[in-house]
Parts: sequence; C-alpha cells; structure tokens
Amino acid sequence: MKIIQGKAASKGLAIGKIYLYKKKQDAVKCQYLKQDEVDAELKKLDDSLAKAKEQLKELYDKAVAQVGQKDAQVFEIHQMMLEDEDYLNDIHSMIKDDKFVAEYAAFVTGEKFAKNFAEMDDEYMQGRAADVRDVSSRLINCLMGGEDALIGMEDKFILVADDLNPSETIKLDKSKLLAFVTLQGSVSSHTAILARNLGIPAIVQADEPFDDSIDGKLAIVDGYKGNFYIDPDEVTLAMMNKKKIDEDETKALLLTLKGKEDITLDGHKIEIMANMGSPSEIEMIIDSDAHGVGLFRSEFLYLETHTYPDEETQFNAYRKVLEALKGKKVVIRTMDIGADKQVDYFNLDKEENPALGLRGIRLSFARSDVFKTQLRALFRASAFGILAIMFPMITSPWEIDEAKNFIEEVKDELRKEKHVFDEDVEIGIMIETPAAAVTADVLAKKVDFFSIGTNDLTQYTLAVDRQNQKIDRYVDTHHPAVLRLIANVVVAAHKEGAWVGICGELGSDLTLTKEFLRMGIDELSVSPAKVLEVRRQVRMTKVTKK
Ligand code: PEP
Ligand code: MG
Repeated sequence: MKIIQGKAASKGLAIGKIYLYKKKQDAVKCQYLKQDEVDAELKKLDDSLAKAKEQLKELYDKAVAQVGQKDAQVFEIHQMMLEDEDYLNDIHSMIKDDKFVAEYAAFVTGEKFAKNFAEMDDEYMQGRAADVRDVSSRLINCLMGGEDALIGMEDKFILVADDLNPSETIKLDKSKLLAFVTLQGSVSSHTAILARNLGIPAIVQADEPFDDSIDGKLAIVDGYKGNFYIDPDEVTLAMMNKKKIDEDETKALLLTLKGKEDITLDGHKIEIMANMGSPSEIEMIIDSDAHGVGLFRSEFLYLETHTYPDEETQFNAYRKVLEALKGKKVVIRTMDIGADKQVDYFNLDKEENPALGLRGIRLSFARSDVFKTQLRALFRASAFGILAIMFPMITSPWEIDEAKNFIEEVKDELRKEKHVFDEDVEIGIMIETPAAAVTADVLAKKVDFFSIGTNDLTQYTLAVDRQNQKIDRYVDTHHPAVLRLIANVVVAAHKEGAWVGICGELGSDLTLTKEFLRMGIDELSVSPAKVLEVRRQVRMTKVTKK
C-alpha cells in the first residue's frame, strides 16, 4: 500500500479503480527518425488516422442519439479534417522529408493550421482553430497509444491527473466519476468546485508525482483528510469500507429532510438554492430538493462547444432548465469567460494578469455580438419559467447601465419580431469585487438583487490568486475583511429593497450559517450535494440572540 497526502478539496470517501489521465500532447518531443524507420512511421500514421476516424464515427453516432444530428455535426467536421489533403501532405512531408517522428509532425502541423484559422477575419473560420487543435490532439493520442482521453470509459473510476482545466472536466462523463486526485490545483479552482457540485470526494496538491504504474490499481480517496491510498492493504480497505457504509447512512438520514422548509428554530425563513454548471445537471438539481437555481454558470455552455453556441442552442438549453425546474426561480449568470475559464475559439490575447483582465462583463462588452446573442436566447427562454439574470465581475454603476442598455436593445428587437418573453425578468449582479461590495448602496439602486460570489470576492479582497496553490496559506475564507464586506452588502441591499444571496463556496460553510442568517442573508446557493446539509444546519439554528 502507498499513501499519498494532499489537500482535501471535496469531502467524502471513494473506493475504486484509478484512471491515470496523461495529456499525451505534453509529452510530444521533437525527435528524428533514422532513414530506415520512415516507412514504419508512415504506416503508424495511417493506422492512427484510421483509429482516430473510427473514434470520431463512434462519437458521431453516440451524439446523434443523445443530442441530435445538428449538434453531432462537429464530429463529422473533425472526420473531414482528418482527410484534408493539405493537412495530411504537411504531416507526411515532415515525416518523409524532414524525418520527424509522427506525433511531432502532427503537433507542429496542427498548430500551424490552427494559427492560420485564428488569424482569419471571419469569426466562424477563427472558431475552426479550436477544432484543428482538437483533431490534432486526438491524432497525437492515437499515435502515442492512448485511448480517447476522458470519454468513453466503461466503468466508474477515480480520475488521477497532474492537473485538469475546466474545458477538460466539462467533457467528462460525470456518471462514471468516483473522485478526483490531482497533483496541482487549488481548493478554490473550478475542478474542485465541480467535485463539490457533484458531491464526489477530491484531493488536490498531492505531495508526490504519480507513477504510470498506478493506472488501473484499486485505491481509496479520503476527501475528509486528503489521503489517497493506492493498493490498500486488507485492514485499511475493511476500515474504509465500514466508514463508507457510515457515510451512506448519514446521507440517507439527510434525505429525510427532503420536502422540509428552510426555516430556523425561531421561524426565520431563507431559501436554499443550488448552483449548476450545465443543463446535464438538471436531474441532480431536482433531486437535491433545492428551492431553485441560485447560480447557473452559463459559461460552461461555451466551454462544451467548439464554436460560439448560437441563439437556438442557447435558447434550448435555458428553456430546458427553466421548464425542468417547474416554476422555481433560475438565476442565470451571463457568460463569465476569461481568467481561468479560457475558451479557445474566443482567441483572447494572452494577458499578464488575466484575473484582473478582460473577464466577465468586460468580455461581454468587448464581444457585444456574442453578448447580445446570449441575452436574446435568455429573454426568449424567459417565457418558459421564472428567470432571473445576473452579470459577473461588476465594479462600477456604469457597467450596470451599459448592460441594461443591451437588455433594452434586445427586448426591442424581440418585441418587433413578435417573440413572447417575460418583461419583468429580475436583473441582478454578482458582488465579487471589493469595489462592488463597498459601493453596494449605490449599485443596489439599479438592480433587483445581489448574489455574492465569495470565491472571487475573497481572491480580490485578500489579493490571493485562487489558482495559485503556493499561497493557499493566505486564503483565509473567514477573514474579517470578507465577512464585513458581506455584512455591508446585506445592509445596503435591504435599504433599497433588493434581496441578497451568496452563491460562492462560503455559502455552504456550515460554521458560518448562523452568522449569515444573523446578517439577514435571504438566499444561500450551494452545490446540489450540500443542499440538505445546509438545510439541516439552518433548521438547527436560532437567529435571535437571547
Ligand atoms: C464566485 O466567484 O464566488 C462565483 C460564484 O463565481 P465563480 O466561482 O464561477 O467565479
Ligand atoms: Mg466569480
């Protein structure tokens, strides 16, 4: 048995087989062939091309069955790219004439073609750059003997990786995931948040690199203590199995709180809502018994696709969520792209400090056509449920005015086109910058509600990059600066008749539930897996001080 120690990022126990995820592309090296190796390398290329096309065909068939022909088309386009003469000639010539190994030839050619697409004027063609990279990385995987990473796994598995970014996690078949263990990553990274949303254990910052030999081995993830047991001995396995049974019993007890009110011992009511990342989580949200959705991170729709999701695709996604929630409120945040949530086809310039750069509402203003498409889809979907819209990364009142101007423009268009929509959709903002928290009294005059994003509010208030694991020590989530800002926001909002929720991770910190209730928070939006735990805490709390 080997024990690796890391940081506990999401509570829970998991026992299962390890799937070691290696980004093959990172291992591509510029290596030369001997003359007598060239023919074999060309044959390897042909075999890998055939394998990649076969994978794409399977993916296409699966996607047609799951999401329909239109959305499955991307896999057909990818198959066509693997037949493109210019692309194939370049790879061939790098192997035959320059004697490079096939994976290096595929990598360099893929990058060259992607760059050409990215530099085109046409937005659609720019979006193809991400497709070329995707196709090349599939080909490289096949050349280097890998399977189609992260998809198509048969059994449930513990995902072990050096690091995972949001665009990789979004591709995962979540129903197969037992737990995450990563070498890098911080407790507040989006991968850790995803684990908490899914209610599965996660460990980040493992204290030693993963050896290839662990792939497929039995392991235990203890997301309470941050321990990762590989090849556990009998005693440890028996002990953990028993703990897992206890954990399942506790979960079963929590289930008895379904259908109960979110009310304190002294009659103070709040609303516990759930956070969601993609429409595929609908079932989990309904099952959580949340009062509605307090934060729908709409950017994940953009991360799931290879090019800008069009109005129809977005409309269908939002409508699906609103209809499924049957009369419960759904707060959808407009796309919060930038910083750690990079989307290839946006082709954003590299920034020195992306967290302080073109992200959230700033990017929406810079790409107003994309923003308007999203707003049109949102308002059209508003006819099918109770929608509220909020904007991320607000710092100044003029940003709210400008965002509202876009809303008016979109509403005018929809009226002219005779679309039915809800004229009174609630409009709110995320409070996730100190500027917004300190001037909440001014901002509250312009909105119906605030939703406090404590993940970013903590990052910006304490000057701690949420992606940087080296400074975890300085990430004090209970820092008085953050708590005082939250209290200030609640007072300011209530003075202007606006409601306030917390949708950051702090919302599910049970040690703060009482304090938040005393501050007068109206809503807590938490991971679906945490809804009942927070409900239990609320129902055990007395707000009045006596
Ligand atoms: C937050 O910042 O607290 C938040 C909820 O937004 P995200 O984690 O998506 O940045
Ligand atoms: Mg945020």
